[in-house]
Amino acid sequence: MADKFKLPARYGDGEKSVWVEYIQLAAEYKPAVNLGQGFPDYHAPDHVLKALSNTALGENPLANQYTRGFGHPKLVQNLAKLYSPLISRNLDPQNEILVTAGAYEALYSAILGHVEVGDEVIVIEPFFDCYDFMIKCAGGVPRFIPLKQKKKSGTITSADWVLDEKELAGLFNSKTKMIIVNTPHNPLGKVFTMEELTFIANLCKKYNVLCLSDEVYEWMVYEPKKHIRMVTLPDMWERTITVGSAGKTFSVTGWKIGWAYANPKLMRNLQVIHQNCVYTCCTPIQEAISKALEYELARRDTPEYYMHSLARELQPKRDFLIKALTDNGFNPTIPEAGYFIVADWTKLANKIDLSKEKDQYKDYRFTKKFAKEVGVLAIPPAAFYSKEHKHLGENYARFCFIKKDENLALTEKLMRDWNEKKSKL
Ligand code: PMP
Ligand code: GLN
Repeated sequence: MADKFKLPARYGDGEKSVWVEYIQLAAEYKPAVNLGQGFPDYHAPDHVLKALSNTALGENPLANQYTRGFGHPKLVQNLAKLYSPLISRNLDPQNEILVTAGAYEALYSAILGHVEVGDEVIVIEPFFDCYDFMIKCAGGVPRFIPLKQKKKSGTITSADWVLDEKELAGLFNSKTKMIIVNTPHNPLGKVFTMEELTFIANLCKKYNVLCLSDEVYEWMVYEPKKHIRMVTLPDMWERTITVGSAGKTFSVTGWKIGWAYANPKLMRNLQVIHQNCVYTCCTPIQEAISKALEYELARRDTPEYYMHSLARELQPKRDFLIKALTDNGFNPTIPEAGYFIVADWTKLANKIDLSKEKDQYKDYRFTKKFAKEVGVLAIPPAAFYSKEHKHLGENYARFCFIKKDENLALTEKLMRDWNEKKSKL
């Protein structure tokens, strides 16, 4: 008899999530440094944390009760103040912004709110892994296209990972509903250029396709690169949903508040999903983020403005880890943004015995063995590829560098000691 209680077929095989698995590994192996999941191991700015404690303990009891479903009034107003000048349009806080349970839920509401059964959604690989699941959840069909590393030796940056324009154009057709663009990109740190975005935007307009623009790393962009918001391209307001994250913006990933902004017609579709799945997000956290935004907006034109100082704070960490990885046999891609480094580990293959690791993909075997032997945990990038393309991620490992300097220094030492030990064998 068929199993009546099995996972519905539209969710695929119920593959393991790399996050569930690697957080469990971190708990089991207790690696000396965890450069796996992306989160800071140090405190967010003081004013952000105080905003939360003051809210919870403050005089207004309603700050701890349900708030407006589509977003706490003060928060949507401050988000409108933040983004309006950046997109040269006065965002309407009531109808054009939705506050969500992390950027995850913004993506979920955008995908579930638009994708019909059988619609195709174009996804650029490597991709943030939940896109695939959400598309299938909506009954859609993901169509994948990998970024290709056009340069293999010498200094490689995330700009060296490019889309094949012909291949991309070939994926668009009458069934295409949406393309998901993640800029700045996780895991590569690529900042899509004006030429690349224009090419994508022109295809969206030609085939009447939506662009879901995941911009959660918008503030961590390293000089001289500049983040370009897809919605600012000509006529893209009609067809772009932009996603942001308070967790990334203020270095508080555990707060799990995100948002989407778009024109009211598209936003209505997100609201329908949100009002029946989540309804409203945590009030004191929304209030705290709203106060934090107010604080930052008041110093928008100063060097202390966190949305600018964050990248300055992260750049030396990036440079330190790039050098440490290079000196220790990796071939890293220098990210132009974000807080991850993807590094090719294949030059280390003769130093590490992966034969006892059971995973199907080499990068899973490498990252697990590396965590056990070296004490440094990284993420296997095959998790960011479709089944057909997982081999494209196998030669790499992803390291997160939004960590205390002492932990980055420890990473360097552990890798150096391990390399020295191995060369003596
Ligand atoms: N998109 C990308 C590209 C991410 O890396 C993440 C990871 N946090 C998210 C969305 C989800 O963000 P949040 O934690 O706000 O749900
Ligand atoms: N975005 C973070 C990362 O890529 C966290 C992902 C998650 O926890 N699901 O590491």
